[in-house]
Amino acid sequence: MRLLIQKFGGTSVQTKENRKHVIKQIKRALEKDYKLVVVVSALGRNPDPYATDTLLQMVDYPTKTQNSKRELDMLMSCGETIASVVLSNELQHHHISATALTGAQAGLITNDEYNEAKIKKVKPDRIKHELKNHDVVVVAGFQGRTESGDITTIGRGGSDTTAAAFGASLRAECIEIFTDVKGIMTADPRVVDSARPIDVVTYTETCNLAYQGAKVIHPRAVEIAMQAEIPLRIRSTYSNEIGTLITSSRGKEIGIDIPDRLVTSIAHIDDISQLSIKVNETDLRAQATIFQTMADASISVDFINISPTSVIYTVPSEVTTRAIALLEEKGFSIEVTENCAKVSAVGAGMTGIPGVAAKIANALVKNNVQILQSADSHTTIWVLIYEKHLKTAVNALHDVFELNKLTEIEKT
Ligand code: ADP
Ligand code: ASP
Ligand code: MG
Repeated sequence: MRLLIQKFGGTSVQTKENRKHVIKQIKRALEKDYKLVVVVSALGRNPDPYATDTLLQMVDYPTKTQNSKRELDMLMSCGETIASVVLSNELQHHHISATALTGAQAGLITNDEYNEAKIKKVKPDRIKHELKNHDVVVVAGFQGRTESGDITTIGRGGSDTTAAAFGASLRAECIEIFTDVKGIMTADPRVVDSARPIDVVTYTETCNLAYQGAKVIHPRAVEIAMQAEIPLRIRSTYSNEIGTLITSSRGKEIGIDIPDRLVTSIAHIDDISQLSIKVNETDLRAQATIFQTMADASISVDFINISPTSVIYTVPSEVTTRAIALLEEKGFSIEVTENCAKVSAVGAGMTGIPGVAAKIANALVKNNVQILQSADSHTTIWVLIYEKHLKTAVNALHDVFELNKLTEIEKT
């Protein structure tokens, strides 16, 4: 049996009109003799009635206890459950043999970290059974259950991860993520007008891009597909184009053994604050105390820069006040820079090539963008800037690496 996983995001299933395109994509795959596991997100975006954020607004817990988080998962999961039934019903109207399953029924087992549950295992027996009687099994994304049967959700954007988890466990031929753009693009098209889709990208580059804010795919989904060595494809629900292939080696796919570009894509994250704390050179424990304080409060830190006299790092805006209060309690004095953004240039081709950081710094300076902090790895260079400069900065980097143009190899 040839098996494909197809995942359709919130905007793809938002309206009946949009779902006609979804059904067209499903029919295309069925015509090629595939059986399908179709993973769906909740219908639309806030203020659509069954979108995740709309459901979240229906309750307001006084405190975030384990029980209130558990109940929130019961509520949030309804969005995807509704979507699975609606799509299955419409497929049946199109004479396609389909059935719907919740994440729990489909066998997605998680731990009990409600709202951010981690997948422990996938038991796909029920799906396998349903595939004997149906051509399409529609599975509600983003949700699972604990061993003891409580409903869980696996973190925002988690339907991508559901698709990858079933793809890996059922050894699907490919995991296709359908969305509202043509593929992985050279930057977020909402920020860069000349951004263009990329034909082939490696799992590692995609993972970096996703962790650095390219929300077109959830990074966990990429990790799962990479481990299982199952190709991922990001494509548009509204077109027949094949989109971006995510695989282990770009060179192998396009028949070359050298990287043909320094930078593949520019990603960004906004809404972050930079904290800068002076420490006494002789107080060796201070640095550890700062990070332990953050860890104890489950505050995730990024962009860490430590010297004998200072500790600098970033936190998401929404936890800034809490982070400062906790540090002040411990006697630290903190300098805060709010409204920052992190811009990342990602590309496997920059490994070992000198001058990439200089090119970035020059492009930003030329556009009057001040760099507040920077860091690099062998495949990514990050800069922290003021949020007000975000659009200018992303466009400047997109231009300096000529990402709007096809590379010589892509032209052939
Ligand atoms: P879905 O609801 O289908 O899961 P998302 O809204 O989560 O869709 O992700 C798609 C969006 O990701 C696009 O509309 C686009 O604005 C954004 N995006 C950010 N960075 C990129 C990128 N590098 N390539 C493509 N899309 C990107
Ligand atoms: N509906 C969930 C969200 O909005 C999961 C998803 O769309 O992947 O985060
Ligand atoms: Mg998404």
